[in-house]
Amino acid sequence: MNPELQIYLNGELVPAHEAKVSVYDHGFLYGDGVFEGVRVYNRRIFRHDAHLERLYRSAKAIWLTPPMSMAEMKVATEKTVAANKIENGYIRAIFSRGFGDLGLDPRKCPTPTTVIIADAIKLYPPEVYEEGMDVITVATRRSRPDVLNPAIKSLNYLNNILAKIECIRAGVPECIMLNDQGMVSECSGDNIFIVHQDLRGRLELRTPPVSAGILEGITRDAVIQLAEKLGISVAEKDLSLFDIYNAKEAFLTGTAAEVVPVTRIDMREIGDGKPGPITGQLMQAYAELRNTEGEPVF
Ligand code: PMP
Repeated sequence: MNPELQIYLNGELVPAHEAKVSVYDHGFLYGDGVFEGVRVYNRRIFRHDAHLERLYRSAKAIWLTPPMSMAEMKVATEKTVAANKIENGYIRAIFSRGFGDLGLDPRKCPTPTTVIIADAIKLYPPEVYEEGMDVITVATRRSRPDVLNPAIKSLNYLNNILAKIECIRAGVPECIMLNDQGMVSECSGDNIFIVHQDLRGRLELRTPPVSAGILEGITRDAVIQLAEKLGISVAEKDLSLFDIYNAKEAFLTGTAAEVVPVTRIDMREIGDGKPGPITGQLMQAYAELRNTEGEPVF
């Protein structure tokens, strides 16, 4: 933690060491709340509206009424980024259910807690972007959308953390999670894409659909848009492990990760074991987009 940082807490900017939330906050007691992770590039907040919209959709899904409008939250976030002079960094925005009692009843929490942190970010090591990442499939299944929908970016990330622990123990930085049908859903904190080649040699970019039980990633959406612009055919399709292992290329997308080539899955080489040309094209297009889109906030 950088003690110099100013944290937005319930309407005020406070020094980081004073930014404290009660142990009775249901975000802490039950993981009852929602959040977003957003990037700042060249003083611009990347796809801020899309992140705000997802935050408010997540809040709606858990019956949490944010204590301010989306427009007010946007201003508060921009103010936090500007106050900390974050030119390139990461924003964590949180609405928790708020201070309550020891029971589950959210009616005992009259006011949601709002937190906005704007700080630096650590990426995966640079080698991963040049040489590709090694990932595994983990035993932990992604939660079923009809039980606890992965589309909700809730403060309860235990499903993802259990997967993350499995891959850390296996010595790899990220993992593929299957859904209850045994099809590919997403990674512990990223979405996944492959380049599929059909029997006639035609290439198609494929990613699991939202119905596979995924968080609908903002980076995923940006990459789909870029691929369409570049004339690469894209499809949201259910993917099996067979499809993944036989992919010509694979990569992950996420706000923190950006676009990461994947060259090994479950100890199998993907394509020729090097980051592929379509992945490279999309990495470059994404880097250009994120550096130029939007207006500086300070
Ligand atoms: N899936 C999960 C489970 C995530 O936590 C994230 C990161 N927010 C993503 C996918 C990627 O989403 P985005 O591109 O919006 O960061």
